[in-house]
Amino acid sequence: VNVTDYQKILNQIQSELSEVKVTGKVASYIPELAKVPADKFGMHLYNLEGESFCFGDSDARFSTQSISKVLSLALAMKTIGGDLWKRVGVEPSGAKFNSLSLLEDNFGIPRNPFINAGALVVADVLVSNFSNPKAAFLTFLHELTGDDTIAYDEVVAASEKSEGYRNFALANYLKSFGNMENDVEEVLDFYFHQCSIAMSCKELAQAFIVFANQGKLLHSDRQFLTGQQVKRINALMLTCGFYDEAGEFSFEVGLPGKSGVGGGIVAVHPNHYAVAVWSPPLNPKGNSELGMAALERLTTLTGYSIF
Ligand code: GLU
Repeated sequence: VNVTDYQKILNQIQSELSEVKVTGKVASYIPELAKVPADKFGMHLYNLEGESFCFGDSDARFSTQSISKVLSLALAMKTIGGDLWKRVGVEPSGAKFNSLSLLEDNFGIPRNPFINAGALVVADVLVSNFSNPKAAFLTFLHELTGDDTIAYDEVVAASEKSEGYRNFALANYLKSFGNMENDVEEVLDFYFHQCSIAMSCKELAQAFIVFANQGKLLHSDRQFLTGQQVKRINALMLTCGFYDEAGEFSFEVGLPGKSGVGGGIVAVHPNHYAVAVWSPPLNPKGNSELGMAALERLTTLTGYSIF
């Protein structure tokens, strides 16, 4: 695909999808997220040549929510390496992101790092390994993106904490199995902050280009993650990145990716590009309805997916 084609394709996606009548609903279980206007829509594609293509609200920051789980996982893998896999699995869950039932069958080992239980174990690892995990995670994001303005949204973090009964239950459940080293409150405080990280489509595409570039940063040429870490994270995004709709995303789009209940989706075409899209209304499985459609159009119109 040459450069002029990418922008043409994005323009076509924007005009085709602006006609679509969206039936999904903006996430409301975090009170603060329910306030986000449903008609926001933006997309940004960043390729390995360092070129950017975009439309709509691609520069507006939104709540990354579960997209942040990929980044906390990357930091945990960088920090403790393979030991992480003694505490969390690598299999798709086929269940809702906040499911409690799967833990019982697995003796407290979450199926993968992208369901909430798994992300809470990852958060626990970071709390164990850094004296100030919130500061460490921000430093990691600033190095990854080359942008030190990326920050927590304290209002979203507090809003989620106020209604976070299920996450409190999950963390306590993990603790009862001995798969939570730290104080539950401390781990949840980190987790709610991690989920509140606000980034735009442009910033997300620039952050995720490392997964398309064999672990090397594009803005500094530094080897930031190993090739093996990137392979594993991409594999997890492909098999576990979309709640219980990972099969559907793979089937329709054919790229590793990760969604969040803020309406964002990031996807990676290894050795080519990273792309982020944002539209808040979610389908019944919790994935951005227009976001899924936009990425399906992208791989269909370019004719390239990982398959
Ligand atoms: N903060 C959300 C939760 O833990 C993340 C949900 C998501 O984006 O999947 O409930």
